Amino acid sequence: SGTLYLVATPIGNLEDMTFRAIRTLREVDIIAAEDTRQTRKLLTHFEISTRLVSYHEHNKRASGPELIRLLEEGSSIALVSDAGLPAISDPGADLVRDAAERGISVVPVPGANAALSALIISGLPTERFLFAGFPPRQRKALNEWLASIAYEQGTIMMYESPHRITKTLPAMLEVLGDRRIVMARELTKRHEEAARGTITECIAWLEEHPPLGEYVIVVEGRTAQASGHSADGSIADIADGVPNG
Ligand code: SAM
Repeated sequence: SGTLYLVATPIGNLEDMTFRAIRTLREVDIIAAEDTRQTRKLLTHFEISTRLVSYHEHNKRASGPELIRLLEEGSSIALVSDAGLPAISDPGADLVRDAAERGISVVPVPGANAALSALIISGLPTERFLFAGFPPRQRKALNEWLASIAYEQGTIMMYESPHRITKTLPAMLEVLGDRRIVMARELTKRHEEAARGTITECIAWLEEHPPLGEYVIVVEGRTAQASGHSADGSIADIADGVPNG
């Protein structure tokens, strides 16, 4: 059977396209893209004329089996998302699972990723971390989600949109306590920016600097100084006896 390549694309700066990504996209039989219009622009820029099909959240039930069939018939397929690594807060994981189950070889073509880029510039510990994806929108689900990561000792990365971040930060303050965070936006782009401070300081900072662009929020893990508490106090009762504010 053919090979499924998971090909990273830039997260804002076209120069982050790798030589191998370009060659792979040229050489495969088919490129499966989250948004074919978006990917078409990238392919045009790099003079790649490979056949393009769509694979996204809403057609993956139909498109996935079709791609598996083509792989089993010997086609090579490159999966790309709109930005960064496919299958990271983007479609792809289901296709990889199905391909792997059938013994189809799955090959990474690594490159840009927003979460890891933010982590390495954060100044927070990098030896252990948790990538948590997008927080839920609904307040109750958001609080539960935050409670579920409150004990993580490693640094936490999450993705957030500009119109949600002013709601997410107060919830984080309430459930996680006033930890140090880094808000990284427009990474690799002209207006790249990283705001560092406690959650309280960052909330104040956002009042002066209206949120623009998509964010990675990097949060310090739970330490003796940064233990959280939820509204009902449940997170406060941490076994090692660290007092909470
Ligand atoms: N697959 C991508 C990756 O590997 O990073 C992530 C896709 S996810 C749908 C998009 C989210 O990633 C955005 O909402 C934002 O939180 C984050 N993101 C993507 N590009 C970014 C950038 N240039 N600067 C900051 N955050 C970015």
